[in-house]
Amino acid sequence: MAQYRGRFAPSATGPLHLGSILAALVSYIHAKHHHGDWLIRIDDLDRKRCNQIHVDSILDCLDAFGFSPSASVCRQTDRISDYQNALSSLEEQGRLYPCSCTRKSLPKGPYPGFCRNQIGQTLIADRAVRIDASDIDLMVDDLITTSSISQPSGDFIVKRRDGFFAYQLACAVDERIDGITHVIRGIDLLDSTPMQRFIMKCLGYESPTYGHFPVLVGADGTKLSKQTFAEPVDWTRPGATFALISRLLLLKDTPGPNEHAQVWLDYFISLENFIPLIVKASEANTLSI
Ligand code: GLU
Repeated sequence: MAQYRGRFAPSATGPLHLGSILAALVSYIHAKHHHGDWLIRIDDLDRKRCNQIHVDSILDCLDAFGFSPSASVCRQTDRISDYQNALSSLEEQGRLYPCSCTRKSLPKGPYPGFCRNQIGQTLIADRAVRIDASDIDLMVDDLITTSSISQPSGDFIVKRRDGFFAYQLACAVDERIDGITHVIRGIDLLDSTPMQRFIMKCLGYESPTYGHFPVLVGADGTKLSKQTFAEPVDWTRPGATFALISRLLLLKDTPGPNEHAQVWLDYFISLENFIPLIVKASEANTLSI
């Protein structure tokens, strides 16, 4: 059996907030409970939204919180040729097509297939590239959630019109390159999983095991995110952030807010039922700030 390899893959679009630290923590604890490796991958493909300042702040912050990866940090921008090879192989299979639809011209919901008659046609530089996903499998066995995906994607984009590889393609290729066996991430990414597994299947890769955990929500009930300007965590006081997380998880007898990050991580690792605790907190609506 492959050794456990998990990962945390933040996008370099802003500093880490409480929800990101919870995501790092859940994937980290899961890996530690399985005596596995845990990697950090920086998702920085979108050069309009990502920059080096965010990369540095994310890595400094993870370091201050005691999250040390088992191998050197990798970045998606170092893997463009791998994504290109994957795209070429999908193209050779006749699964891709150029798409000239603009976001504005499309109704909400699955892609209605306006450009499907282009399947197998030559890809064009300034057009998005979609993949024929008619035989995608929407069922995912999940280690944590019993929810099913909220909406199928239809034929989805694997390369954007602006030339950037899409997250779905890049992430599928990354899991393969890094030998990831377990993807433990927030439930907000559940709808992405069938797309990523579909690409893996087309490319003949083995799929990792997935687990999607409940995410932290703000007062308005939506996920805390960099897009909604969730406050960055204070990485000079990791104990205070871990203490807040432990309050949201209704934990008692925890280390104090001034304790060192490693003391907190050891404490979280000592909780054998860490993942069920998060599910319980979410059901009790305490995973909100
Ligand atoms: N970088 C993406 C995000 O932060 C994807 C993460 C993942 O696949 O775990 O939402």
